[in-house]
Amino acid sequence: MKTLKHPETQLVDVICATCGTAFTIRSTAGSVSVDVCSNCHPAYTGVQHSAAGGSRIERFNRRRALAAA
Ligand SMILES: [Zn+2]
Repeated sequence: MKTLKHPETQLVDVICATCGTAFTIRSTAGSVSVDVCSNCHPAYTGVQHSAAGGSRIERFNRRRALAAA
């Protein structure tokens, strides 16, 4: 019977580009970079990030209010 081998893995340090949180994972990749992590993703923090100038919904509602006036 052919023996199945797991791929070689190593411990890799990951640093979140957004909040700078560092953590270690086991991965086959030599290096891993992430843009968002569980420390700063809105789904985990519950904080909504709004871009400068407001969200698309806010802009839409503003235009709709102007059109209705
Ligand atoms: Zn993060």
